[in-house]
Amino acid sequence: MNLAHRVDALTPSSTLAITAKAKELKSQGLDIIGLGAGEPDFNTPENIIEAAYRSMREGFTKYTPAAGLPELKKAIITKLEQDQGLTYKPSEIIIGNGAKHVLYTLFQVILNEGDEVIIPTPYWVSYPEQVKLAGGIPVYVEGKEENDYKITPEQLNSAITNKTKAIIINSPSNPTGMIYSEAELAALGEICLEHNVLIVSDEIYEKLVYGENKHVSVAQISPSFKDFTIIINGVSKSHSMTGWRIGYAAGHERIVAAMADLASHSTSNPTTTSQYGAIEAYNGPQTAVEEMRQAFEERLNIIYDKLVEIPGVECKKPQGAFYLYPNFKEAAQIAGFENVDQLVEALLEEALVAVIPGSSFGSPDNIRISYATSLEALEKAVDRIHSFVEKKN
Ligand code: PLP
Repeated sequence: MNLAHRVDALTPSSTLAITAKAKELKSQGLDIIGLGAGEPDFNTPENIIEAAYRSMREGFTKYTPAAGLPELKKAIITKLEQDQGLTYKPSEIIIGNGAKHVLYTLFQVILNEGDEVIIPTPYWVSYPEQVKLAGGIPVYVEGKEENDYKITPEQLNSAITNKTKAIIINSPSNPTGMIYSEAELAALGEICLEHNVLIVSDEIYEKLVYGENKHVSVAQISPSFKDFTIIINGVSKSHSMTGWRIGYAAGHERIVAAMADLASHSTSNPTTTSQYGAIEAYNGPQTAVEEMRQAFEERLNIIYDKLVEIPGVECKKPQGAFYLYPNFKEAAQIAGFENVDQLVEALLEEALVAVIPGSSFGSPDNIRISYATSLEALEKAVDRIHSFVEKKN
């Protein structure tokens, strides 16, 4: 049997594939250190687990509305009001099975065959695939290293055509950890407004911001920016709830209603128990969120200093998220490899360190190192990479 054409161009998530390979090697008894993870290494805070458990004991184990529980929508509305100063109605919020699923649903309802979506590189691996699955065409705009991997208004202007439907802004960014400032967002946003381009603002790393850096949502810049923006967020990274699968979108009522209709025929609703956990995540104490942020920041500062000592490695210091995105082009050459992909393979097989090659994110000279693991493992891994690069020399 032939499969549908839509899967022809589909590439499986490379980040999940490398993590799986590292796990397999580990199960064979090899001392692999995995730096591929895209999830916090802390358990979900106890109060959230308790609230979810309580909800099941109380009998809240049935279907909910397709767009999510009204109580959870209320908690999200309060969060957006408090954190961003934005006001949304319940009909402008949809909860889905993680931000990934929310994005998938969004592209399904806004894209027609041939519509273009601007994706700045380096990008999160699922954006291009989701756009293609919805019949859209990803248009890549290079966030240059010298501009902290961010795109400029000039670049955006020249990428827009009469087919451009949307742009994805992911700040703080996976994989680069960079953050767009308010002024940068305003400049990009103006162009989007002028050309009627929807801004898909993926703010999943909002709570993981370091030093003097600040997260600003493009929607909070002005009411007209809010009109042109759909915010994507969730509890996965902020509350260490990746396995619970709860994310949301906040935006135009018509888009949200269409997304809810689609969800009603695909998933029915996000898992009821997880929604009760997420209500507690937003309404309960936020101390664990800040504690986790501080732990990430401490690791970042220590590991960054060690990483840049590796010969040939250049690294912009990340401002948020939990990834380092060093340029390893020269280091790969020093170690005798033709390219960074080859180095990454050898690192896994010979140095027993799993990292994700930048080619997965559209910038093949880099590697992505996740510091969502213990400081001890991180230090050991960076030492291994260091001596691997030097020894091969
Ligand atoms: N957006 C970005 C940039 C991410 O890195 C991730 C997860 O890795 C997601 C969205 C999806 O998060 P979730 O589906 O767990 O809410």
